[in-house]
Amino acid sequence: MRLKGKRILISAAANGIGRGSAIACAAEGADVVAVDISAEGLSTLSAEHPAIRTHVLDVRDRSAIDAFARIAGPLDGLFNCAGFVHNGTVFDISEEDWAFSFDLNVTSMYRMIQALLPGMLERADETGGASILNMASMASSIKGFPNRTLYGATKAAVIGLTKGVAADFVRRGIRCNALCPGTVDTPSLRSRIASAPDPVQAEKDFIARQPVGRLATVDDITPLVVYLLSDESKFVTGQAVLVDGGVTI
Ligand code: NAD
Repeated sequence: MRLKGKRILISAAANGIGRGSAIACAAEGADVVAVDISAEGLSTLSAEHPAIRTHVLDVRDRSAIDAFARIAGPLDGLFNCAGFVHNGTVFDISEEDWAFSFDLNVTSMYRMIQALLPGMLERADETGGASILNMASMASSIKGFPNRTLYGATKAAVIGLTKGVAADFVRRGIRCNALCPGTVDTPSLRSRIASAPDPVQAEKDFIARQPVGRLATVDDITPLVVYLLSDESKFVTGQAVLVDGGVTI
């Protein structure tokens, strides 16, 4: 049980990588608080494992986050997973698109960390450490992709946020890392494929960009989530950790 006794909060936990992470962390002994904007998605998650509790939370809502932080109690781990993929070049980005993507992909993480870090610092004083994991992407400051200008800008900002938090709190037992997956088969990827002009070709293109020759599954990603939230990674902080099927070889 690699996360036994740990209390871990995961956002965007109703679907995709967040959901798989909630189940994987519970299976490793954590008490998981799974939050998402989708009550419907959360309703089936708590049935997956008795150690998963769910709570509807919009990570774009500052006052809801602050209210939630007052009842959340001290945490050993926080996985900020929520994010949105904008499709298009710089000409396709409206002011509203820009503001929305930065709000959901980056500002939400600043809000969650600011609200929940005091409890994590308390916990780190008791136990010696606590871990924050922020969802970035290989599409970020690491590598550029066509039609991912806005997405890549937000995920590059996530890496900058991660390094800043890591630097400020490294001596107080807080670690902060960013996870940078390749293309993962999730509901959001399936909707991007379905909305492409030629969905069959779009799926082939997504597969082709991964040298391993397939999409990642959620199960390819969750072992790193468990590792980065566990004490096994206690000497790892401020890192952008890639799990990309060889895209950045
Ligand atoms: P997904 O669409 O399968 O799940 C996203 C979840 O986020 C949904 O349950 C949704 O209800 C929730 N959500 C949306 N807005 C929210 C809000 N305001 N507050 C709380 N929850 C909200 O997505 P996914 O593909 O698993 O992606 C999860 C994260 O991983 C994102 O940050 C994404 O950018 C990142 N990522 C995904 C891939 C990929 O290929 N799927 C690759 C790299 C990084």
